[in-house]
Amino acid sequence: MALSGLDIYKLLPKTNCRECGFATCLAFAMQLAKKSVSIDKCPYLSPEAKMTLEASALPPIKLITIGTGSQKLEIGNESVLFRHEEKFHRPCGLGFILEDSLTEIEIKQKLEHINQLQFERVGQLLSVNLIALRQNKDKQNFLKALNLIGKNTELGIVLMSKDSEALAGALEIIQGKPPLIFPGEYNEKIVKLAADYKCPIVATAADLDKLSALSAQLKQAGATDLVLDSGKKPIADKIWDLTQVRRQALKKNNRSLGFPMITVIENADPYAEVAEAATYIAKYAGIVLMKGMEPWQVLSLLTLRQNIYTDPQKPLQIEPKIYPIGQVTQDSPLLVTTNFSLSYYTVLGEVEGSKVPSYILSVDTEGMSVLTAWAAEKFNAEKVAAAMNKFAASEVVAHKKVIIPGYVAVMSGDLEEQSGWKVIVGPKEAAGIPSFLKNLQ
Ligand code: SF4
Repeated sequence: MALSGLDIYKLLPKTNCRECGFATCLAFAMQLAKKSVSIDKCPYLSPEAKMTLEASALPPIKLITIGTGSQKLEIGNESVLFRHEEKFHRPCGLGFILEDSLTEIEIKQKLEHINQLQFERVGQLLSVNLIALRQNKDKQNFLKALNLIGKNTELGIVLMSKDSEALAGALEIIQGKPPLIFPGEYNEKIVKLAADYKCPIVATAADLDKLSALSAQLKQAGATDLVLDSGKKPIADKIWDLTQVRRQALKKNNRSLGFPMITVIENADPYAEVAEAATYIAKYAGIVLMKGMEPWQVLSLLTLRQNIYTDPQKPLQIEPKIYPIGQVTQDSPLLVTTNFSLSYYTVLGEVEGSKVPSYILSVDTEGMSVLTAWAAEKFNAEKVAAAMNKFAASEVVAHKKVIIPGYVAVMSGDLEEQSGWKVIVGPKEAAGIPSFLKNLQ
C-alpha cells in the first residue's frame, strides 16, 4: 500500500539535517510520497524504515508474465478494488485445459480450433491466452503432447503436473518461453525448477492463511513469481477467496497474498461453466482455466472481459472522420453517428449488413453515445455541422443529404440551417438501418 507523506515522515529521523538536499525531513517525506526522489538520499534511515519504504514502493499485486512475444500474458499489478476508483489494468487470462491422454489427432484438432478463437469487437481483437496441458499418463506422453502444442500454437502454456521429472523435461523443451507451472501441491523439486528456470509457479492451499504461509515459503525458496490457487470450491467460497486475496493485498499490504489468482473450472454443463467463468472474470481472477471452448462460450467471456477492463472514465472511442463502407460513390448515403466505439460499430455492422455502400460520419463526442452526447451538448446541430465541414463532407458526396439518428430528430431543423444540407431522420435503433437504406434507394 502506498504510504502518505505523513506516514513516511514518521519513519524518518526528524533531525532536519538537510543532507538529503531538503530543508526538513517533512519536505523530503512529501517528495518521497510523490516518488520524485529516492530513499537513498537520506543516509540516516534505520534498516527497518528502509525496508518499509522499499516495500511500499512495490506494486501491491506483483506483475506476472507467462510466455513471450505478441502472445505473452501479463497479469497482476492491479491497484484498486473497484474499477470506478481508477481502472483494472491487466485483463484476466483465459485458457483451456488439454489432457495429455488425448490422441495426437485430437490434440491437433483442438489446437486448430483454439487458434481460431479470435473475435473483432468495437475495433479490438479479442483472443484467448493460454493452453493448460494436464498430465494424466507418463512423462513421455506429457512431453509428446507438449511438443505438439509448441509446434501448433504461440499461446502461453500452463504445465499442470505433479511429476518433477516430466516438468524438468518440459522446461527444456520450451526454454525461452516461460510457462506457468501448476503442480497443485507443494513439491520441493518443482519449486527449485521454477526458481532455476525463472518461471512463475502456482501456490495451492485451500485455506487463505495457509496460502499466505506457502507463498512466503516459496519466495524464500527462490520462486518469486507466484500465482495463487485456493483449490476446488463452490463458487460462493471461491468469490470470497478472490475478494479476500485482493483486499488483503491492496488494503492490508499483505505481500504474501500480493499475487494474481488462478481459477480452474471443471463443469460438464457448458452453461454453468460459462456462468462460473464469467463470475471469476468479474471478480478478480488473474487466470481462468476451463475445458469448454465453443465459440459462443468464448465470445461471451471475452466480451465481458473487454467491458470490465475498459477504463470506465474513458469510453472506447474511434477516430472522428468520414468512413467509406463498401464500394462507395459520390451518390452513396451519408449517415452520422458519434465516435463512441459501440455506437459506431453497431451502425457499421448494420450498414455492412444492408449491402448498401454508404459513408458514416463519426462526430467527436468524446466517446459518448448518441443520446448521452446530445444531452451533454456534444452532439447537436452545431457540432454535426462543424464535423461535416471539418471532414469536407461536400467533397465526399455530391447529393447534400445527411442522415441523422432518429433519437436526435429534434436537431434536424437547426442542422439544415447551419449546414445548408437536407436532413433525413433515420431510424432510432441501428437495427432499422438496413431496411431504411434499402428504401432510400
Ligand atoms: Fe531528514 Fe534524512 Fe533529510 Fe536529514 S537527510 S533532513 S534526516 S530526511
